[in-house]
Amino acid sequence: TEHFLARMRQHQSLGAFLAVDEEVSRTQARLADERLAAGSTAPLEGVPFAHKDIFVTRDFPTTAGSRMLAGYRSPFDATVVQRLADAGVVTLGKLNCDEFAMGSANENSAATPVGFDAPVPVRNPWDRTRIPGGSSGGSAAAVAARLVPGATGTDTGGSIRQPAGFCGITGVKPTYGRASRYGMIAFASSLDQAGVFARSADDCALLLSSVCGPDLDRDSTSLDRPTEDFAQGLDAPLDGLRIGLPQEFFGAGLAPGVRAAVDAALKEYEKLGARLVPIRLPRTELAIPVYYIIAPAEASSNLSRFDGVKFGHRARQYEDLLDMYKKTRAEGFGDEVKRRIMIGTYVLSHGYYDAYYLQAQKIRRMIADDFQQAFKDCDVIAGPVAPCVAWKIGAHRSDPLADYLADIFTLPASLAGLPGMSLPAGFGEDGMPVGLQLIGNYFQEARLLQAAHRFQ
Ligand code: GLN
Repeated sequence: TEHFLARMRQHQSLGAFLAVDEEVSRTQARLADERLAAGSTAPLEGVPFAHKDIFVTRDFPTTAGSRMLAGYRSPFDATVVQRLADAGVVTLGKLNCDEFAMGSANENSAATPVGFDAPVPVRNPWDRTRIPGGSSGGSAAAVAARLVPGATGTDTGGSIRQPAGFCGITGVKPTYGRASRYGMIAFASSLDQAGVFARSADDCALLLSSVCGPDLDRDSTSLDRPTEDFAQGLDAPLDGLRIGLPQEFFGAGLAPGVRAAVDAALKEYEKLGARLVPIRLPRTELAIPVYYIIAPAEASSNLSRFDGVKFGHRARQYEDLLDMYKKTRAEGFGDEVKRRIMIGTYVLSHGYYDAYYLQAQKIRRMIADDFQQAFKDCDVIAGPVAPCVAWKIGAHRSDPLADYLADIFTLPASLAGLPGMSLPAGFGEDGMPVGLQLIGNYFQEARLLQAAHRFQ
């Protein structure tokens, strides 16, 4: 704990942490030492850890990267936070993220990192002029810079896989419903899923075994599947593993350096005994419009709770109740969040619902069916995480669509609720890390982790 606290202080300029409390962390570490001395066998006893600031925590403030929640402190811990604490982790703090997890670059955070006096973008430790990815950019940057050995993230449309890829670490999003959403501030509830970041697949397996598990009383979409020891069987050989390569993931628009790194990784897999099989995911391109209808629709509904009455920020001066709502929300939300609330409200409104929202739901189902068709011919699917390497800070500032388009390879698995992960494949343009994405069928997390572990 002391080692990592020192590193965190030394590398504050990355902007990864939004809250730290060294005394709280030291107390937790002392308690873990006492439990270890008394013979504790908790799987993560004393392991330093940090949480994306979208999980509510009792011991640290929670902002979700928003002015709306500046200074907010939750009276309870999210289930994922609680489960990791029960497993013994020592919490080092809260990690920067895009506001309400909306973004691909961590440039949409309105929260001020530790050591700064105004919001600043999180930096990619490989090249500090570049973004770390998003929305879990603080988590990925902190793990990549070895400020902490593991961290939580959330993945609604790629927010674990993409920053893991951009920062050269390993990140896993389990099957939708395997990790509890209780206490995870909602963005798009039918897509939001918690997961983990670490250096390697075996570290991720250890962490994920504590994160996943039923929470039926608190999360209505929690699945009644027993907890699983994902670290078991990691060493099993890959002989005969059929890796499906979707044609649509390797087309024009893929940066040559990314393609070369992914191809080289796939060659390694062949050497390890896997067989590469061409497959089709014909609706890949549609995942972008479908996701950017469904996610904002759900967000517009979820964010209606931030009205200045129940949580967080309230405007100082207003005329009446309606004016209070308006001013509170105008002041509290950032541009990207407002953009999504407007899109979401529009696609759900009378007369447009059938044309946009309903249509998107139907195509979402077809995207999920396409995966089931593909899994008849393969055991896991592999491809790039993103079409390019991490871009320069500010490069997409005036073009939010550029961020959306870069999500093309992560959105399909999210819409289908499938587990996915990113592992370091090598390096691409400008020497930046490239992530290899592995997607499994429902509940195939163990197989993904095994495939990643054998490669590493
Ligand atoms: N980049 C996507 C978005 O902006 C995904 C975000 C996420 O997974 N939380 O919505």
